Amino acid sequence: MTSPASGDLPDYAPIPRSALGPALNDQGYYVGRVERNLYWVTDGVYQSAFMTTGDGVVLFDTPPSIGHNLRRAVDEIAAANGVSNVVTHLVYSHHHADHTGASSIFANDVVRIGHEETRRLLLRDGDLARPVPDITFADRYTLEVGGERVELAWHGPNHSPDNIYIHFPDHDTLMFIDVVNAGWVPIYNVNLSEDVIGYMGAPAIALSYPWTHFISGHLGRLATRDDVAVHQQYIADIEASAREALTSVNPVPFYVAAGENSWAGVKAHLDTVTERAAAPVIAKYTGVLAAADIEVFTTTTTFQILQSLRLDRGVTVSSFVHP
Ligand SMILES: [Zn+2]
Repeated sequence: MTSPASGDLPDYAPIPRSALGPALNDQGYYVGRVERNLYWVTDGVYQSAFMTTGDGVVLFDTPPSIGHNLRRAVDEIAAANGVSNVVTHLVYSHHHADHTGASSIFANDVVRIGHEETRRLLLRDGDLARPVPDITFADRYTLEVGGERVELAWHGPNHSPDNIYIHFPDHDTLMFIDVVNAGWVPIYNVNLSEDVIGYMGAPAIALSYPWTHFISGHLGRLATRDDVAVHQQYIADIEASAREALTSVNPVPFYVAAGENSWAGVKAHLDTVTERAAAPVIAKYTGVLAAADIEVFTTTTTFQILQSLRLDRGVTVSSFVHP
């Protein structure tokens, strides 16, 4: 694998300081207390969490980029607090390997918990690095370990079909992965999400829970309710802009101009509405959300939302039904 030296980066807008988190240690991670015995770990790009209890440690996600540093973070905190460092439970937020691919680092006698669809997808994918969950649930599951309580819930597909809400009612915290990036725009294609309507509605579900601290799964700091609200506004702005473009740009002239190359007509139409919809959003959020000026992120996210509005919601120019 090759990667360009940082000197080769395009001339992107500076990253707002507010988007960045605490410095990493020499081993490349930061571990911090969220509240009481709940901790979060970051390598600057991915996030994981764990809870120490009287009966052992519960992990929440095992991103391979953090990998063995998760073990180090648990050991460090357990030693400092004089509590057990034995990992007894591991909760999967969803099946994606980038958040769960270090699961097999932890012993086989760890009890893994996940949504029933997570189990089905992991069985399908057959990745030895991600043992299937032993305990599954359909809608809700209350995990009780060492006197602590965690509420797991599935509220429908969003980023993935199996992405769950992990609520810590006694720690004033919600963990919900791969939808909101605190201080940063979503990456390509609505943060690589499968269900666009579900993705767009998920932040409101997240905000319906009581919490102060939000573990989003990515980047270097925890999120606040304000971060979720800014993300919601960004998505709402894309949706409004996409609706405006879809309902004001007539596709027919693009097909006429393309002649027998029908796909050329499709491309010209969809590229035109996407660029028209994305441009004002990129301008508004550059300097507000980190990487808003990486055009491909906002543009591909706009493209996905635009397609969902067109296909799921039926948004189009009023004259588009053939006479
Ligand atoms: Zn994911």
